Amino acid sequence: MTASRWVRQGVQRAIWWLFVSVASSPAALAWNAGGHRVVAMIAWEAMDTSTRSAAAKLLRAHPDFLQWQERSRDADADADLTAFLEASTWPDDIRRDKRFYTAGLEAPTPTLAGFPDMERRLDWHYVDLPVGSAVGKAGTDGELGRQLVELADTVGNRQASTAARAYALPWLLHLVGDAHQPLHTASRAQPDGRSDNGGNEQPVVNPFDQRHPSTNLHRYWDDLPAPPWLRGSRLESVVRALKQGFRPPLVAGVSAQWIEESRQLARDQAYPPGRDEVPTIDSQFHENALALASQRMIDAGYRLADLLHRLLGAK
Ligand SMILES: [Zn+2]
Repeated sequence: MTASRWVRQGVQRAIWWLFVSVASSPAALAWNAGGHRVVAMIAWEAMDTSTRSAAAKLLRAHPDFLQWQERSRDADADADLTAFLEASTWPDDIRRDKRFYTAGLEAPTPTLAGFPDMERRLDWHYVDLPVGSAVGKAGTDGELGRQLVELADTVGNRQASTAARAYALPWLLHLVGDAHQPLHTASRAQPDGRSDNGGNEQPVVNPFDQRHPSTNLHRYWDDLPAPPWLRGSRLESVVRALKQGFRPPLVAGVSAQWIEESRQLARDQAYPPGRDEVPTIDSQFHENALALASQRMIDAGYRLADLLHRLLGAK
């Protein structure tokens, strides 16, 4: 089957999201929670038993393990799978969690047992590489590339404390997903020369989301793969459709490669054509973006499984 037919079939299978698309995430800074759970589910299904149980053991040592269980609506759900799925959104969940603080904006909150400190680490979610003309810097360059390496080292280090590894694992699950979102790796200059902050400053009209047609380009991409509430059997069927419609990544690669792929996708495919001040997403752009986001979910999921196998699997 040709690559383009794979893509077309995937788009057809994914297209029903257009009817249920709910873009309601408050902060447009990551694949939304549904997208992260999709990535985690693909990874979990691809992991062998020894890797799964090593990951589960660490997550059971995380201070928020019981909170994750409470979110499952299915009393019969596998506790370890629930923890794995919910842990993948934890770095976004703490943005709204009063136990944590944002450095530079708020005073540090008391450090609770099991955490190194309570900082939200907002700059871990992205790396800001310029695409197109030079970009005037706004904020920091982002830590995504560096943290993917360091967190993987911690998770895979059997000499490190369980608390340190349990803290690092949800971050790693999350950031492998973020590294595959093109606009988490790149920014373009606005007409006045300032950075568009990964498309956050680029307003767009998305007629395919009738409830929230006015959005920005970053949020448009974050919400493409799935609605934020996606869990349970609906999550399972989305993952099944993606796995049927899209091929696993050709190379597992390392995090620097995932980020470079994302940067190139941001440069070539993430922005609507033309330089309208407020572009309207058309159906051709939308269909391509949907297929691309779906392929990036698949890539991220299989690569996460591969990474965890290397870090945690039976030697
Ligand atoms: Zn994120």
